[in-house]
Amino acid sequence: MIEDFDVTPSELMKQELNAVIEELVMANKILYNEGVVDGFGHISVRHPEKQDRFLIAKSMAPGLVSADDILECDFEGVIHDAQGRRSYVERFIHSEMYRARSDVNAVVHSHSMSVIPFGVTSQRLRPICHMSGFLGAQTPIYEIRHTAGESSDLLINSQKLGKSLANTLGSSTVALMRGHGSVAVGTSIKQVVYRAIYTELNAKLQLESMKIGSIEFLSEGEAQATAAMADIHLERPWALWKEKALAQSA
Ligand code: MN
Repeated sequence: MIEDFDVTPSELMKQELNAVIEELVMANKILYNEGVVDGFGHISVRHPEKQDRFLIAKSMAPGLVSADDILECDFEGVIHDAQGRRSYVERFIHSEMYRARSDVNAVVHSHSMSVIPFGVTSQRLRPICHMSGFLGAQTPIYEIRHTAGESSDLLINSQKLGKSLANTLGSSTVALMRGHGSVAVGTSIKQVVYRAIYTELNAKLQLESMKIGSIEFLSEGEAQATAAMADIHLERPWALWKEKALAQSA
């Protein structure tokens, strides 16, 4: 006998999906408020029930995203939306990361300013402090010319380009995209938001440090240990970023 207060499995799934969408909307606002995305850039999350689909906003500025704007996309880049709305041209960044990496459940693509110099010079982005150990020994750089030729618009607008970007990322957490921006991946929304924010902060610190002198980066062991430490504490900064974003939009 089903009691009135029992929740059916389909209701539970719906509640879970709504919770994921709510977190994704908050992540959009946080990334905007923390200066990772501006009018451009996007975040997605793997669909909680359908492993071969992901949730992403329709084509719009991240800071303005609400729950109604979240769409479902498959790995071919096809949007499944009754209203026929469109998502970002660069959704293939997301689809090919999920396809290539079963451990990845959330993806951020941004053009955050301080990261760009490290994609266009011989200075490699490396972990400079204990909050950015997830960067690993160094971050790979994606050269779109190898796949798209000399005259592309630099956008990852096809499966082919998404796949080549995923190849460059390999098993790393962040890849830089020459003359364009970067992509960060994570096992959860909170982790990937943390990584996107601290990738930008690491780049800022590295640029500052380069003015003073030669830099002592984290060792590979320190990078690994600090990355594991940071993963335990994802809730604390998230709570702060969330409050700040909500206060900003109030
Ligand atoms: Mn872009």
